[in-house]
Amino acid sequence: MGFESFLGNPQAVQTLRQMLAKERVPGALIFSGPEGVGKKTLALMFAKALNCERRKSDDFCGECAHCRKVDEMARGAREDLGRRRQIKEAARRVEGLIYFDVQLIEPITRYILVEQIRHLRVTAASRPFELPRNVFVIDPAQAIHWQAVDLLLKVLEEPPATAVFILICPNAGELRATLRSRCQRVRFLAVEDAIIARLLLEGKRAGRDEMELAVRLAEGSIARANSLDLEDYRRRRQAWVDYLESLAVGPETRTPDWSRLFDATRTLGRERGEFEEALHIGYTLLRDLTGALTGRVEGVSNLDLLPRLKAWSSRLGFRTIARLKEGLDEAYRLQIRNVNPQMGLDALAVEAVESSPRG
Ligand SMILES: [Zn+2]
Repeated sequence: MGFESFLGNPQAVQTLRQMLAKERVPGALIFSGPEGVGKKTLALMFAKALNCERRKSDDFCGECAHCRKVDEMARGAREDLGRRRQIKEAARRVEGLIYFDVQLIEPITRYILVEQIRHLRVTAASRPFELPRNVFVIDPAQAIHWQAVDLLLKVLEEPPATAVFILICPNAGELRATLRSRCQRVRFLAVEDAIIARLLLEGKRAGRDEMELAVRLAEGSIARANSLDLEDYRRRRQAWVDYLESLAVGPETRTPDWSRLFDATRTLGRERGEFEEALHIGYTLLRDLTGALTGRVEGVSNLDLLPRLKAWSSRLGFRTIARLKEGLDEAYRLQIRNVNPQMGLDALAVEAVESSPRG
C-alpha cells in the first residue's frame, strides 16, 4: 500500500512524489483546500514516505516497522489530545506534553495553545528518537493561538534538517502572510463526482436511484461520503423544510403559522452538538433557494425538493433569502460565543416574517 491508495487530488499526490523523487523536500508545507478531502491522510502518508525503510524513490511500503510506527504515533497523539480536551483546569491541559517523532498538533481548546508550539520548537531542535525524520502536522493551522504564531515563525525561519512541518488549513489566506511565505503550498480540490459515487456505492450509502442527490450532498468530500446517511439527513432537514414552508405560507393565509415555525426552530436549537450540522443543512438550503430562484438548478444540492424550492423561493424573494442568510450567520456567531442559538433563530424567524414581501 502506497500513494496509489489515496483517493482523489492526483495533482497534490504528484507534487509530493516529485519532491521525494528529486530528494527536494521543503522544510515547511501548507496543505490547503476543502474539508474532508484527505489533507491529513496524505500528510501522514508523506510522513511514512519520508521515513519508510523500503522506500522506492517516490513511494512508501506501508508495511515496514517505520511505516507502522507512523500509524501508531498518530493514534497515540489522537488519544492524548482527546484526554487533554477532557481536563477542566486550563493550566493542566498542556502539562507534561510528549511529542512523537511524527506528531499531530491539533487544538486542545478552541486554539492550538502557546505551550503546544513551544514544545514543538523544543522537539524539533533535537534529533528524532526512533525515525529518521520528524514530521509535525498542524491541523488546522488557522487555530494556532495568535501569541504562538511568532514562535512558530522562528522555527520555520531555520527549520532543522531532520524536520518537516505540514500546516493544514481550508484556506491559506487565513494564515499570516509571513507564515505563508515560509511554506510551499500544496493545493487540494473537491474530489470528483465519479470517485464520490464509487465510495457511496461501495459503502452502500445510496442506491442508484438516489445517487445524484447523495453525490451532491457529499459536496466532493470523502469524509461526508463515508458518513452520509440519507435517512438521517432527511430527518435533520425536516425541521428546515417545516421552517421554510411556514415562512413561505401561501397567499390564502394572511399570517404565518407561528406555532409551527417555533416548533421547527426549537428542534433546530435542541442539541448543541448537532447545531453545526443543522446550520450546514440550513446554508445549503438557502443556497438551493437562490439557485431555484435564478434558474441555476445545476448547483442545487437538495434535488428531491426542487419543485418546493422553486415555490418557496418565488414567494420569499431575494431579500428575505438574504435576511435568512444573515440570521444564520448571527446564529453561528451566537453559538461560537456560547449563547443559546435558539435565541438567534427565534429572532431570525420573527424578522424574516416581518421583512418578507407579504409584509
Ligand atoms: Zn515502509
